[in-house]
Amino acid sequence: MQTYEFDTVILGGGPAGLAAAIYASRGAVSTALIDISMMGGQPSNYLELENYPGFPVIGGYDLMEKFEEHADKFGVQKFPMQEIEKIDLVSVPKIILTKEAEFRAKTVIIATGAQPMKLGVPGEKEFVGRGVSYCAVCDGAFYKDKTVAVVGGGNSAVEEAMYLTKFANKVYIIHRRGELRADKIVQERAFKNEKIEFVWNSIVKEIQGDDLVHSAVLENVKTNEISNLAVNGVFPYIGIVPNVEHISGQVEQDAGGFIITDETMKTSIDGVFAVGDVRKTPLRQVITAASDGAVGAVYAVKYLEALKDVPQKV
Ligand code: NAP
Repeated sequence: MQTYEFDTVILGGGPAGLAAAIYASRGAVSTALIDISMMGGQPSNYLELENYPGFPVIGGYDLMEKFEEHADKFGVQKFPMQEIEKIDLVSVPKIILTKEAEFRAKTVIIATGAQPMKLGVPGEKEFVGRGVSYCAVCDGAFYKDKTVAVVGGGNSAVEEAMYLTKFANKVYIIHRRGELRADKIVQERAFKNEKIEFVWNSIVKEIQGDDLVHSAVLENVKTNEISNLAVNGVFPYIGIVPNVEHISGQVEQDAGGFIITDETMKTSIDGVFAVGDVRKTPLRQVITAASDGAVGAVYAVKYLEALKDVPQKV
């Protein structure tokens, strides 16, 4: 098995990881960027972004390609498609073991992102891409003149439901309580939207279909009444969970598993930084992920400079 030694290993090649790679390699430290998939992260799947400064409209894939080309320019070593087996953030050096190689690092920048929370009901997994979607922006256009349901009552659910009304004839918002969690201003807009109908106090029990989804089985949690709602698509927006497999338990995390950092992106472990969606942060956008990446990498470089004064094993 191949063994590599780097000053900094960045876990995750989305906007946070790629921005960190640019800043770390420009800081003249040897930098590896590891991803379980190809580089680009979640935004690669976004049809378009309209809020990344400098680009009034840009495809998500195109923007991430620019990030990656930029990182390439500074000589970051990329390791895509790495299946992680073990991460030891406490040892000296820090170890990232994948199926193919062992990476030894003086600093680690965690940029593994987050993923949508799943409903965990029958039919959900089976119909992904055939009526179940976690990305209205990516898939909304497939539901032109159709009927869809969004599940959840937070900002994401309500905002994405409104986005879906651009395409769909009718959008149900299925919420487990009788009151939304979303910000009042967001709620007011949704209440005014004639294409949106709320299904209160209800949960999805099952998603049904043939080749494609045709209905959702609902339960009213107050009356226990079961009903069948005819829909062509179901968009669960019930929150997100951080990608912290092999990491949980080593660093300080909040109740949802998000990694807690200080303003320099430092975690509870010396030499370990967390950036982007995986950390506890008030806003999860490409721009904030990139900003985190810059801050984390600059402080990782400062950490490495300070290490030069003390003997190290790496
Ligand atoms: P969220 O605010 O945590 O809301 C999740 C929603 O899903 C809640 O209404 C919750 O119901 C419901 N839910 C959770 N688990 C469920 C389950 N198993 N079955 C059915 N329903 C379930 O998540 P979010 O909307 O993704 O937002 C995450 C964060 O990003 C929030 O801080 C939000 O404000 C922020 N955000 C901001 C913006 C913006 O500012 N424009 C846009 C999007 C997101 P309960 O209400 O009953 O708990």
